[in-house]
Amino acid sequence: MKNPPALEQLIDSLRCLPGVGPKSAQRMAYYLLQRDRKGAAQLGLSLSAALNVVDHCKLCNTFSEQPICQLCEAQNRDKHLLCVVEMPTDLMMLENTQAYTGLYFVLMGRLSPLDGVGPKEIHLDKLIKRAQNGIVTEVILATNYTVEGDATAHYISAILKARGIKTSRIARGMPMGGEIEYVDSGTLAQAMLERRSIK
Ligand SMILES: [Zn+2]
Repeated sequence: MKNPPALEQLIDSLRCLPGVGPKSAQRMAYYLLQRDRKGAAQLGLSLSAALNVVDHCKLCNTFSEQPICQLCEAQNRDKHLLCVVEMPTDLMMLENTQAYTGLYFVLMGRLSPLDGVGPKEIHLDKLIKRAQNGIVTEVILATNYTVEGDATAHYISAILKARGIKTSRIARGMPMGGEIEYVDSGTLAQAMLERRSIK
């Protein structure tokens, strides 16, 4: 006994979501059709609208409805600084700090050879071109402090340095308001290694 064809197709489509197998896809489809038909209709409309209008900014590669995003268009940004992040959420977090006034490049991922994510998938050509535009003087690598994020930062840094572009890596160490007693030993060890003289 099978589900009606249209329902089977919906279940199949839901499996494109990461981590969703056949059973959870079926549960989601049943839920949408049985419990939340209004939400399901809205989901369909939003998905279709987003697919139609959202693309990547030609300069920084983040999601944008315009060919060049608002941030890249802004006149008050420091065009000499280019900060490289993994995802648009990282960009938003950094923007919320109001501590950075330069521009960004969003990789939309990190190098992960085992998952088939290589230099092409993180749009390295686009980044190199951007970094060599004659205006950028420093590329700040703000990828995550994970094994893959770190490897990505080192890889990009080596390529940019070979082209004579200055690179830096965001610092790691004690969190603001952090008490040594409660900081994990990896973070504390790094804070000791990256200590600075007091001005
Ligand atoms: Zn942009």
